[in-house]
Amino acid sequence: MYTCAHCTVKACRQEHPDQLPQNCPMGLHPDTMDTPQPEYFLPENHEFYVKCSEIEAEGYGQWPRIREIVELCHAMGYKKIGLAFCGGLHKEARTAADILRKNGLEVVSVMCKTGHVPKPAVGIEKQVRGPGAFEPMCNPILQAKLLNEAQTELNVVFGLCVGHDSMFYKYSDALVTTLVVKDRALAHNPIGAIHCADGYMKPRLFPYAGDSE
Ligand code: SF4
Repeated sequence: MYTCAHCTVKACRQEHPDQLPQNCPMGLHPDTMDTPQPEYFLPENHEFYVKCSEIEAEGYGQWPRIREIVELCHAMGYKKIGLAFCGGLHKEARTAADILRKNGLEVVSVMCKTGHVPKPAVGIEKQVRGPGAFEPMCNPILQAKLLNEAQTELNVVFGLCVGHDSMFYKYSDALVTTLVVKDRALAHNPIGAIHCADGYMKPRLFPYAGDSE
């Protein structure tokens, strides 16, 4: 089992590491050390990977993520971008689409509720507004299919729910990057819970910890 999250050595960041910690993936798979994975050289990956890595360096600490997306699209020559957004962030999605458009990109945007399918139609019994109320399901598979049909060159996820984003990633033909992650409790800033895990957030974070907490 790999335990990088608890590593104190971080040999992978050192130019000449003299020891590898226990459970280190590089120690357990020495063939991976100092050797790029061959997939980086596939035609569909190589330019994309190099360009996005160079953009990291170009705007490091200066460009917000949406600017990095704009730069990546221009570097790759992409013209048509998909925006798969959450209905709870419609206003923000519009602003994001305007920013992308003003930077010369065509934006195809699809909201999560598209399809107008009631939640019970797929077996969802628990509803936010309670039983009997009309509540359309989030429809990430349809969002992906519509953007596939539009032949978008890169898709941007904007605030899709946990798991709905997973399904969008699964069914999108184009590569996907995430601009906004959904966190209703923290104004879409999920790392806030991690920063405050020992403080204000603690009572909300360990429902399964039992006696170990
Ligand atoms: S790859 Fe190895 S050195 Fe790097 S964080 Fe993981 S365990 Fe530590």
